[in-house]
Amino acid sequence: MKALRHWSVRHAGGLRRVYDVFRKYAPSLAVVVRLVGRERSEKLFAPLERAAKGLLFDCRMCGQCVLSSTGMACPENCGKEMRNGPCGGVRPDGGCEVKPKMRCVWLEAGEGRKRIAGQAPAEALLLPPVDQRHRGRSTWLQIAAREDVLPVLEQRPALRALERPKHDFERACESGRFLVTAEIAPPDSSDCTELLQRASRFRGLVDALNITDGAGAHCHLSSVAAAAVLTANGHTAVCQMACRDRNRLALQGDLLGAAALGVRNFLCLTGDDIRNGDHPGAKAVFDLDAVSLLGIARGLRDAGRFASGRKLEAAPNLFLGAAANPFVPPYAERVTNLEQKINAGAQFIQTQFCFDLELLENFMRAVRARGLHERCRILVGVGALRSAKGLRWMAQHVPGVHVPEKVIQRVAHARDQALEGKKILLETIAALRGIEGVAGVHLMGHKNEDLLADAIVESGLRTRVDLDKSEGGVERHCCSAMPGSTA
Ligand code: SF4
Repeated sequence: MKALRHWSVRHAGGLRRVYDVFRKYAPSLAVVVRLVGRERSEKLFAPLERAAKGLLFDCRMCGQCVLSSTGMACPENCGKEMRNGPCGGVRPDGGCEVKPKMRCVWLEAGEGRKRIAGQAPAEALLLPPVDQRHRGRSTWLQIAAREDVLPVLEQRPALRALERPKHDFERACESGRFLVTAEIAPPDSSDCTELLQRASRFRGLVDALNITDGAGAHCHLSSVAAAAVLTANGHTAVCQMACRDRNRLALQGDLLGAAALGVRNFLCLTGDDIRNGDHPGAKAVFDLDAVSLLGIARGLRDAGRFASGRKLEAAPNLFLGAAANPFVPPYAERVTNLEQKINAGAQFIQTQFCFDLELLENFMRAVRARGLHERCRILVGVGALRSAKGLRWMAQHVPGVHVPEKVIQRVAHARDQALEGKKILLETIAALRGIEGVAGVHLMGHKNEDLLADAIVESGLRTRVDLDKSEGGVERHCCSAMPGSTA
């Protein structure tokens, strides 16, 4: 099965030509389908299609075949059911984050596309999420019966300037100043005292604080609740929303819920592999991928409509972001994936940890060549680990994190490993400030707030004066002072 799947990708050009002929002549069977009856025809077509496409593509019969757009690589084999390019967890050898023995479907798709004449790998088109009603049904029959259910590739227009009030982080993004954001994880508790203490270390030093959403597939207080508590206590929160744990109804409901509690900024993510977390036996949802979630969130805001098309009573005011990972394969397609996210609605981007400036430079060169840095604000992820052992563990166990061996060795041979880690962080921040198109840094580090706050000051990004000015704010531990949900 596996061998034939690779064969199909290698012969994507020929298979596409066969498909084009089929698409041209199959609709002439519409009369026959009508005579035989739709359901009886289904019973004939579906098993045939399942057998043929199962053999050639390891097809899962989603009922809305997109093989002709994905270089004859079936995205249903993707461990996260992504429809719009690779996740950020592709392994250095090209293996899948979820199924390590399988090559990432999107690497195969890139190769297949190159073999299809006229289908440039740089296409930044968007595939809509799967319509589950068609699952198990024959796509061939839909073509033969002239039913218009095949997904249409969309090219969304560049974001237009929206007539709506802009809040802190969006204004900061538009200010042109070098941005600073930091990330904190919600507590394993409903008591937010410690969360607020950790957040307070960054008061006056950052433009926004990200609240992670089940990072590493570990369960914590919900990101919506934590972001709302931070907002109620005068912080500017970025609420991370991962597609792993909720379907499209729940995600839209949570976007509206968070907006009702005053949260304005959202980072749309696909989510880490569930089996790496503390509930490996749980069901991963992945009804949407990050690109689809962005498009749907944008539709809530700009069209005032749910994904179903039903109208909202009032559109929420959302500022939307997404993640990028220039540090793992497929490197060339990372920029295409970024463009997809911008086309879908991303206004800011936060990247995975940058320990490899050369890879980032390559990525930014391609970003500038396409003018993408002018369409969104790109913040590069940075952080420091206290030891070479910690760095090595992260490189080996955290999907999507790339740490070059020379960085690990530099820390390993230092007399004070924690200090060396911080020196590397400061050097990285200084270098990033000189790269055209980098709009800021995003600091990450689990329960490492003191070191990160010091690094912000020592790197000259912000001063303690900013911090002193902002102190004196009273921390409120409940949501009694939530900002209104209008605007
Ligand atoms: S690495 Fe990610 S995008 Fe690639 S097949 Fe696996 S889950 Fe899908």
